[in-house]
Amino acid sequence: MLKSEKGKLIILSGPSAVGKGTVLTSLMADYQNISYSVSATTRPPRVNEEDGTDYFFVSEEEFKEMIEDDEFIEWAKVHGNYYGTPKKYVEDTLEAGQDVILEIDIQGAAQVKEKYQQGVFIFLAPPSLEELEVRIQKRGVDSKETMEIRMKNATEEMKRAKNYDYIVVNDEIDEAVEKVKSIIIAERCKVN
Ligand code: 5GP
Repeated sequence: MLKSEKGKLIILSGPSAVGKGTVLTSLMADYQNISYSVSATTRPPRVNEEDGTDYFFVSEEEFKEMIEDDEFIEWAKVHGNYYGTPKKYVEDTLEAGQDVILEIDIQGAAQVKEKYQQGVFIFLAPPSLEELEVRIQKRGVDSKETMEIRMKNATEEMKRAKNYDYIVVNDEIDEAVEKVKSIIIAERCKVN
């Protein structure tokens, strides 16, 4: 259970390659009223990624120490690397009355849901599984085997959409961003 209920915790999740990162980047670019929680990962940085901005890049040993020290709200192994949401940043920011958004995979979102039911859970879905396959292929970063694994996982992950509060189909990026923004605004107006 997280300590604070002053700010809202928004969880943006969905299958791999659905465009969570792109939606989040656009959302943050024209909507400053929310804080993004930077995750820790054992994945090596990509070109143009900065430590502390995109991720906190840590070794597997450091990550395991963080797990031991109970520093994560949730953590998961995604495509062979560890990813986790730092607890302190999220708790302090919510406590200060600021909303926080997490962009995490489906396993992580399920863990947050167990601890923090009052979070706002948004499932970003592809227009269809066929379209998701096209996007995974277009990214061109995966081997044929990895693409097959991602598609198999995505088929399972799509079944989890029913556990979320909202489903946003990411067909047109601008439209998807508008919808996420509208959800956040509506949640702020909600009578508790
Ligand atoms: P990438 O390596 O492409 O940045 O991210 C790979 C996957 O890890 C994406 O699905 C992303 O949403 C997920 N991810 C990023 N940060 C976290 C986190 O802190 N926790 C969990 N569970 N997944 C994360």
